[in-house]
Amino acid sequence: MPPRPPAPTVVFGSLNVDSTSYVAAFPAPGETILAHGFRVALGGKGSNQAVAAHVAGASVDLVARVGADASGEFALTTLAAFGVSTDAVMRVADAPTGVAQITVADSGENTVIVTGGANLALTPAVVDAERARLAGAALVLTQGELPVDTIERLAAVTAELGVRFVLNLAPPAPVAAAALRHCDPLVLNEHEARAVGIGTDAPMGATLDEWRAIAASAVGVVARSVVVTLGAAGAVAASADGSWTAPAPRVTAVDTTGAGDGFTGTLAAFLAEGRPLDDAVRIAVAAGALAVQARGTVDSYSPRAAVLAAAG
Ligand code: ATP
Repeated sequence: MPPRPPAPTVVFGSLNVDSTSYVAAFPAPGETILAHGFRVALGGKGSNQAVAAHVAGASVDLVARVGADASGEFALTTLAAFGVSTDAVMRVADAPTGVAQITVADSGENTVIVTGGANLALTPAVVDAERARLAGAALVLTQGELPVDTIERLAAVTAELGVRFVLNLAPPAPVAAAALRHCDPLVLNEHEARAVGIGTDAPMGATLDEWRAIAASAVGVVARSVVVTLGAAGAVAASADGSWTAPAPRVTAVDTTGAGDGFTGTLAAFLAEGRPLDDAVRIAVAAGALAVQARGTVDSYSPRAAVLAAAG
């Protein structure tokens, strides 16, 4: 592995612990049922993307908040086991660690209840308090799970500092247009793209080439640069330098959970190294394709060497 770049990739991120119960069928209101399986795993888009960027070779600083509870301890231990710096993952006394309570039925359907908990302590004031860390970053990455005013403050402060700002607006959130315009890139899946007005007229199942043209038309209007992920088809990217398609290899997907986060974390890591957008997207597509072939979320991310070998 080459040396990690000295300037860190700062991930201002949501952190959850996913508690998943596997059941034959969902309980009716008022009903108690027995699950036939249970799993606890690190989740939250911020922590997933921080792990993915670290695995891809970035020097990652995760700014996050957990509660003073067992889930917070579990999250810190898991991040440390991956080698992600937790220096800026603070414990808050008055809120639980963010949690996603997931129920997966034998039919494959799931229900998810997310409690933001300690994540809500990532306020705009934290952005200001972390100004020195942001100033020293190669790149700052965040996600739609954070409070909207925090995302907008991050956009404003990184703009002032001249630091590259990458936003994965997942889930879609009503972020001000001025903040979106600073994103380089704004990373969206097809659904999120339509939610911010990119490709609203595109037919479902539009081709990679059609999405490339749509992304190109949003450059300088919606965001500085735009990346749209299109599941098994791959991704497209556009910036002031051009527009590109990055088709995904045909693979057998066993678990697509966290593929988008694996993609985005890898993209950020290679952009932080100075790779051009088209190159970083091509490598991120390879990382996403590897992630869907393994079970789990953070456990499904392949090491840098494997990703680069797959990217060719
Ligand atoms: P999720 O929310 O499920 O993590 P997402 O909707 O944010 O995902 P996708 O567009 O589904 O993001 O997937 C991200 C990237 O992962 C795709 O651009 C592609 O590179 C890769 N990928 C996803 N599914 C597949 C697949 N079935 N085969 C190959 N690559 C895939």
